This record gives sequence, structure tokens and C-alpha cells, in this order.
Amino acid sequence: MIIYGSRVYGKKDLIAYFGTCEKCGVYGPQRSYSGRRWGHVYWLPLIPMGGKLQIFHECKSCKQAHSLPFSDVESTRARFKGATDRALAALLAGRNTVDVDGQPADCVNEIGGALDILLAFGERNYIKLLVAALRQQPNCEYAHRVCEGLWAEFEGDLEFAEEHFRSALRISNRSTLPAASLVRLYMHGKKYDAAEAVLEKVLAVSEDAGLLGLQARVRTLSGDTEGAVISYEAFFRALPEAAFNKGIYKDYRKLCGKTRREPLPPESFGPQVPY
Ligand SMILES: [Zn+2]
Repeated sequence: MIIYGSRVYGKKDLIAYFGTCEKCGVYGPQRSYSGRRWGHVYWLPLIPMGGKLQIFHECKSCKQAHSLPFSDVESTRARFKGATDRALAALLAGRNTVDVDGQPADCVNEIGGALDILLAFGERNYIKLLVAALRQQPNCEYAHRVCEGLWAEFEGDLEFAEEHFRSALRISNRSTLPAASLVRLYMHGKKYDAAEAVLEKVLAVSEDAGLLGLQARVRTLSGDTEGAVISYEAFFRALPEAAFNKGIYKDYRKLCGKTRREPLPPESFGPQVPY
């Protein structure tokens, strides 16, 4: 038997950190690096396949990763850094929102959504400076707690991360980021009751559909099948596009089967629009 396939060779600029894998959901070591994909025969790289790549968030557990043509790294880095700089400037000026494409966006969400990419692209010092800048501003405590929590998560210190996300939640409910982050940590630790408690509290005051999806996931993992079905249906009512996502709908249908009830068809939640 001849063994052939393809893999990335000539790995450079290796960066190691921790994160939750978007593919398998496992929190654990991740890494980013640049390299080139080669076709191999018996692991001998023989056939170059395409240009140089930036691989990021490669999960140790399932080995899956995201990739970007290396030529796009600088523009992507500049875009995320620019968005983060603008959100930070707004926070330091006492504002909670920043203009993004003509719409107000929550500064903390803007920053929180960019940090993992910036980390993967080697901006560790930039993130450290950003967290330090927020730490020094008493009126930015909420943003500081969220960013410090994310930083601790990247560093693998989950106890510290939990402490910061909890503090952020005590200060405000204005962004769902600390709640979603806490739930992620509790799911990792199989603390489903704690995850459920956080979700119930936040869902009482928030209309974030994503949290309902997260609740369905928590309930599925904890074995609360009936509860998970209810959460999925609430999730689909809040975000009808999600019911047309094959993977999500399949999970819902499976749970319905277990509870011996007929799954509601995707169209019953609303019209199909691109998800
Ligand atoms: Zn994975």
C-alpha cells in the first residue's frame, strides 16, 4: 500500500496558545504557523500545492485548523488591529459603542472578536498593552474584565478567566460575551448546572439568539433532552435561518426522536434566508 496525502511542511513562526476549537468544540492547546502545502508520498513532500499559507487555531485534539493565503495576512492583521484600535479609543473616551459600517457596534464585542486572530498572527504584545491600557482606566472596568478573561483563556488559566468573566457579568449585561465565555468554560469543565444558571440569568434580560443555541448545546450535553428540544425551538424562532442549517437541524431532529415527538419543519419557524 502506498501512503500519500498532503500536509503543510516548512512550518515557521510557530505560536502556541489555548482556545476552543470551532470544529470539535474542545478547549485545549492550539497553534498557528506559516508553511506550504505539499502532496506527499510516504511523507516525502514531492508535489507543491499552492502558495504559502498561514495556518491558525490548529486544534491539538482534532488537528483541524483555519488557513489563509499568506499574502492576505498583513491586510487581515491591519483590519483587525484597526477595528480594535478604534474600539479601544472609544472606550478610553468614555463611549461604549463604535461606528462600524455606519452602525453602532459594542466596543467590547468588537475587541473580543478580534483578539484571538491577533494572537494567532503574533500580536501577543499588542494584546498585553491593550489589556494594560484598560486596566488603568477605572471607567473601563467592564471591558478590562472581559479582555483580561479572554487573555487568561488564551494562556490556559481557566480559574483566572472564570473570575474575570464573573466580575464582568456582575458589572453589566450589556454584552453577551462574558456570559457566552463563562458557559464555554463550564461546558469544558462539564459543570452543566453552572452553565445553565448563567444562561438563565442572562436570557432573562437579553434577546441574544446565540445564547439559546448555546443553551440547547448545554442541555444536550447534560442529558436534559426535553429541555434541549425546547431551547432549539426557541433558538429557531429567534433565528429562523438556523433551522435551515443542516447540522443544527439534525441535532434537533435527533433529540426529538429521543423524546418521541415530531420535529417541527424548518419552514414553520420562518422563511429561509442565507445563514
Ligand atoms: Zn478540534
